[in-house]
Amino acid sequence: MAPERAPLATLPCSKWGLGLERPLLIAGPCSAESPEQVLGTAQGIVRSCPNVNVLRAGVWKPRTRPGTFEGAGAVALEWLAEAREATGLKVATEVATPEHVEASLKAGVDILWIGARTTPNPFSVQAIADSLRGVDIPVLVKNPINPDLELWIGALERLFHAGINKLAAVHRGFSWSGPTPYRNQPMWEFPIRLKASYPELEVLCDPSHIAGSTELIGRVCQQALDLNFSGLMIETHCDPPNAWSDRDQQVLPEHLQRIVEGLVFPAASPSGLVRDVLEELRDLIDQLDGDIMQKLATRMDIVERIGEYKRDHRVAILQPERWEAIMEAQYKLGTGLGAGKDFIEAFMNAIHQESIRRQTAVRNGMPVPPEGSRSDRQE
Ligand code: PEP
Ligand code: MN
Repeated sequence: MAPERAPLATLPCSKWGLGLERPLLIAGPCSAESPEQVLGTAQGIVRSCPNVNVLRAGVWKPRTRPGTFEGAGAVALEWLAEAREATGLKVATEVATPEHVEASLKAGVDILWIGARTTPNPFSVQAIADSLRGVDIPVLVKNPINPDLELWIGALERLFHAGINKLAAVHRGFSWSGPTPYRNQPMWEFPIRLKASYPELEVLCDPSHIAGSTELIGRVCQQALDLNFSGLMIETHCDPPNAWSDRDQQVLPEHLQRIVEGLVFPAASPSGLVRDVLEELRDLIDQLDGDIMQKLATRMDIVERIGEYKRDHRVAILQPERWEAIMEAQYKLGTGLGAGKDFIEAFMNAIHQESIRRQTAVRNGMPVPPEGSRSDRQE
């Protein structure tokens, strides 16, 4: 029998154990390049951005192509320690192997993160988790580069089961081949679903790797804050045009401060009048959702009656012209009422799929099976 697993939801993730308040602001260069660059950036951050609590810098860089800068390696951990000593900032770096973990712990790194190219590999994540057994250190888990929520959760679980309970997820967007202004497509629905499944889990946003360019960073930060993310990790460099990696997306410390000053930090849980107004509006939404569900149930009853009629008169279930006419009418109505075309299409397609499923069951003389009875589990 499979061993019982502790649900991630019981994580005391909101206790960082570092005395860090929300929002957690992490800033620093993509890569640690030299002692001067690490220290110069850290000092610039402390001077310009009083709200930043953690200095980040990649020591081992997982680059897509060989031949680009792959990080200075373990020697850079000393530069991080010096910067911490000089500025009082906590320091964070990326680990991808047990050797990275061992060297980082030895150098006194305060926070570790697992990068987007490591999270999708269960062997690597398990090896890192095993090397962290018995160690009390916060670990941030970036989403996998491919949009797969289960892989992201799986990585968090592997660490949790190894005894790491200061865990947070970092949303850094997903690889995307279609047209997009972003380097990595945000697909906000993934971190939203993660947060919905594990409300206690802290979720941070890395707007730099989502944006890929400095102009979009502020907008991505605001979206993350509006979605109640717990903090931001923003790539910051003392000389961005000459950075050895990710040069287009790194900002100067002064620029970082302007971005932070331009952000509205909403309260995580509203209070007083704001809460009353919200509750009233939410009541309305709940009533409307109820109405929509009732109407859908009525629609499905009628669909089943049509299914019986089609069965008895040997008419095909799928009538493409009829469906086209419905879609056209709904597009016209919906767009006129301010709904987006993509939304109307997705909504109507979901209804259509359910209608066909029910009519197929009726045709086969079967009771209508509940949705989700087919196996769609991920291994
Ligand atoms: C980074 O933080 O510099 C990095 C490599 O990020 P990601 O793993 O999100 O690509
Ligand atoms: Mn980077």
